[in-house]
Amino acid sequence: MNVTAFAVGNIPLIKQGDDIARILSEKTELKEHDIAVISSTIVSKSEGRVLSLDSVDVTERAKTIAKRNVNDPGFVQAVLDESEEILLESPFLLVRTKHGSICVNAGIDRSNVEGQDNILLLPEDPDASALRIKQSIFKYTGKKVSVVITDTNGRAFRMGQTGAAIGIAGIKPTRDWRGTKDLFGRVLEVKNEAIVDELAGFANILMGEGSGGTPIVILRGLNLYHESCGIKELFRPEEEDVIRRALKSRSA
Ligand code: GDP
Ligand code: MN
Ligand code: MN
Repeated sequence: MNVTAFAVGNIPLIKQGDDIARILSEKTELKEHDIAVISSTIVSKSEGRVLSLDSVDVTERAKTIAKRNVNDPGFVQAVLDESEEILLESPFLLVRTKHGSICVNAGIDRSNVEGQDNILLLPEDPDASALRIKQSIFKYTGKKVSVVITDTNGRAFRMGQTGAAIGIAGIKPTRDWRGTKDLFGRVLEVKNEAIVDELAGFANILMGEGSGGTPIVILRGLNLYHESCGIKELFRPEEEDVIRRALKSRSA
C-alpha cells in the first residue's frame, strides 16, 4: 500500500457562505476515493457558526459556573446552550452536544476566529455537513471522495490533544476485526478499530493548531471509501458507558 498525504495550499480565510467543496476542488486535483480531512473550524465558519460573546444572554447558572471555572460567563452560557447533557461542571465543562458527541466546552473555540469577542461553535450537524461537502465535491469534480470533519480534542487519562473525527461521509467509522484471527489463530473478540479517529489524528499533524492556514488534508491510497455511514456509530451507548455513569453519579 502506497499512501500519500498532503495539506492543501492557498486556502483563504473562510467566511460565512463560502463553498468549501468548490474551494477545495479548485486548489487541488482530487482523485477517486481520496479522503478529504477538513478541520471543523472552517466548516463552522462557512456555516456562520460565529457568535459574539456580547450577544449571549447569560443566566445565573452560567455566572456561577464561570466564577468556579475562572471562565467568561458568556462563553460558559454558549457551552450550556450547545449542550444536551452536562457530565462535569468543574473544573471544566464536559458535555454531550446536541449532535451527541461528548467533549470539553461543546467544542467551542476562541482560537483561529476573527474578532476579539467572537467564538466559534461546532457545525450543528457535522455528519450532514460532511455529506453536503462530499456531494458538492462530486458535483464539481465527478470524483467520489470521503469526507472526515475533525476537531482537536483532549483525551481522558492522557495529556496532550489529538485530532478526532466529528462528522463523516463516504467512509465507515470503524474497521471491524472481530471474528478474524490473529497471527496464532486466536479469534479476535473485541477489536473494532476506530479508523476515522486514526485518520483525523494523523491529518492533524499536517494541519497544526496555529497560524499554518492548512485546514484541509488529503489522504490518498487508503482504499477506505464506503457509501453511507455516520459518526454516531462511535458514540458509546449510555448503558454501556461506565465512565459517563460514574461522572454523573459524582455530580448528582
Ligand atoms: P480545529 O482543530 O478544527 O479546531 O481547528 P484549528 O483552529 O486547530 O485549525 C486547524 C488548521 O486550520 C490550522 O492550520 C489553522 O491555521 C487553519 N485554519 C483555521 N481557520 C482557517 C481559515 O479560515 N482559513 C485557512 N486557510 N486556514 C484556517
Ligand atoms: Mn476546535
Ligand atoms: Mn486543531
